[in-house]
Amino acid sequence: MPDIQLLPETLAFLDRQHGQFIAGEAVAPSGTTTAFGVTNPATEDVIAQISPASDAEIDQAVAAAKASFEQVWADFNPYARGVMLNKLADLIEANGEQIAQLETLSSGKSINLSRMFEVQQSAIFLRYFAGWTTKIAGETLQPSFPSMTGEQYSAFTRREPIGVVAGIIPWNFPLMIAIWKLGAALACGCTVVLKPSEFTPLTILRVAELAREAGIPDGVINIVNGMGDVGAKLIQHPDVRKVSFTGSVATGKKVNLTAAADLTRCTLELGGKNTAALLKDADIDRAVGGLLQLGYIHQGQVCAAPERVYVHASRLDELLNKLGGALSQAPMGSPLDESVLFGPISNKPQYEKVCHYLNVANKENRVVVGGQAVAGPVNGKGYFVQPTIVQATSANDILMQEETFGPILSFMAYEEEDELLSLINNTPYGLGTSLWTNNLSATMRMIPKIESGTVWVNLHTMVDPAVPFGGVKHSGIGREFGSAFIDEYTEVKSVIMAY
Ligand code: NAD
Repeated sequence: MPDIQLLPETLAFLDRQHGQFIAGEAVAPSGTTTAFGVTNPATEDVIAQISPASDAEIDQAVAAAKASFEQVWADFNPYARGVMLNKLADLIEANGEQIAQLETLSSGKSINLSRMFEVQQSAIFLRYFAGWTTKIAGETLQPSFPSMTGEQYSAFTRREPIGVVAGIIPWNFPLMIAIWKLGAALACGCTVVLKPSEFTPLTILRVAELAREAGIPDGVINIVNGMGDVGAKLIQHPDVRKVSFTGSVATGKKVNLTAAADLTRCTLELGGKNTAALLKDADIDRAVGGLLQLGYIHQGQVCAAPERVYVHASRLDELLNKLGGALSQAPMGSPLDESVLFGPISNKPQYEKVCHYLNVANKENRVVVGGQAVAGPVNGKGYFVQPTIVQATSANDILMQEETFGPILSFMAYEEEDELLSLINNTPYGLGTSLWTNNLSATMRMIPKIESGTVWVNLHTMVDPAVPFGGVKHSGIGREFGSAFIDEYTEVKSVIMAY
């Protein structure tokens, strides 16, 4: 099919000179920093220019967030906060096609996925957070300390917003993850300075403008653009009270150290080497559908996606045959073509990383399907690779241990349940694991022993606003969603009274 038609408002947005978003305004480039380009990974064309934030702009963004926190947002009526978050969700949907197009042009995500995740899921998450604004509560407690003078005591706790939050965003779901941070922070009464990935800054810049239309007061949402150094300066700012980081383990460790140096609270959502485990009774057709959709979606650039698959030895051939057949037929091409399932890898460094792992696969393992970089549909350009199935030889193979963050799934057989458990836990990561089985006893035996923030049964990767999400071991610290986010974005104040 042909590419969809780009909207005039998409083209107009790309044409603008982008800088920061501070105190409710898109700030024109200061001219003190050198602009960088945003590249369309499907064509390698530079589609927009962004000026990175100067040190002065970082200070201004934090100052705007601090002033709006102290003067407006922390004491803003909780119901009104929720109304505004709901209104922002409505505006994201109303402008959904422009947002989806900006996303696909800058990240290579297929247009269908951009509509589904960056637009619809962002609105769903925002509405979930909007519902929490009126439900954030402390406790009433009865002190047991004996009274010396006959007086009595009573105590209660308050959940108070923590202050200015720095949100550092990766490029794989640039709007949805920004909304996770923004929605949680604003629901609790915090204000934010977001630092998008240098590869995908466009959609959240557009949404910041919509936030103003939604009535969210100036300064509550601020955005500073740039490379990692801008993120590092932002989190070192003394007025930042909390850092919420999503990204790689290597950067997360640095961020944690920097934040800890000034005792700034920090939550980390990091990488994974997630396992799908197919037990002896697994429904192979269901697992094939699941792996196709959830392992290779967005070219595998999904933090929770399965990258290593342990299959009961009696079922491995059947799985590889069926998945290989389905994968070979999946359409690859321009992400603006609605019939396409697989587009390009999102950016050049990530493409080079995935190509490195394809080389490893070809040298050290058996490539069952795929295994090559391929020419893109426009003049052979773009960062395209084949979705790949690899048969591993050992649980310690590079491809069974290192996060590729690409469309490379590695498969290995196992025999016994105990062996499977130790294979699943044989990784420094612990983000997500799926079990594919209807064997209830085995499932219930295994769940407590799996070192993983989430265990899915007969599905994988599903992330829902009502269900806490986060990693154990090197996959992170802290949880998002559910009510878990309230602990991360508020301070508990204890009040003890004598009467
Ligand atoms: P990255 O760590 O390279 O960059 C993430 C963000 O950090 C970017 O905005 C970057 O500019 C910024 N940054 C870089 N150096 C910094 C520093 N020293 N201080 C502060 N900020 C800095 O990650 P990425 O390549 O953008 O994203 C891919 C990674 O993110 C993968 O490992 C993936 O698993 C992980 N991820 C995890 C989750 C999750 O919820 N657990 C979700 C999405 C992605």
